[in-house]
Amino acid sequence: MMDIVKDMEVEGSHILAKQKTKETEKVLDYDYKKCAGCSICVDLCPKKALQEGPLQEIAKGLDAPPVLIDLDRCAFCGMCVNFCPLKAFQMKIIKKLPAEEKSPEAQEI
Ligand code: SF4
Ligand code: SF4
Repeated sequence: MMDIVKDMEVEGSHILAKQKTKETEKVLDYDYKKCAGCSICVDLCPKKALQEGPLQEIAKGLDAPPVLIDLDRCAFCGMCVNFCPLKAFQMKIIKKLPAEEKSPEAQEI
């Protein structure tokens, strides 16, 4: 069976959900400062990996993400990247090259 490792990091306003296999590393980058909380992504995520954050409190000034990501459910399909009207989601796919080659090849979708 293929090993899949997932983890999540926060860098400023970016929430980085990562999925690593032997061949690739996928990084789903959610910049919550770009997000308007429209919930389009929540409705369309095929894995139900997204849910609304505390939208009422955010409207009153709370600094929190309008969308919460369930890393266990996310399949890194990229649909939220394609449909977010504000480009709050980005996906980076890093293909791991054989050991003798140095720099990994990165691809943005
Ligand atoms: S579709 Fe984009 S703007 Fe709308 S809630 Fe999702 S991430 Fe935020
Ligand atoms: S990458 Fe796919 S599964 Fe993951 S949150 Fe986005 S739409 Fe849902």
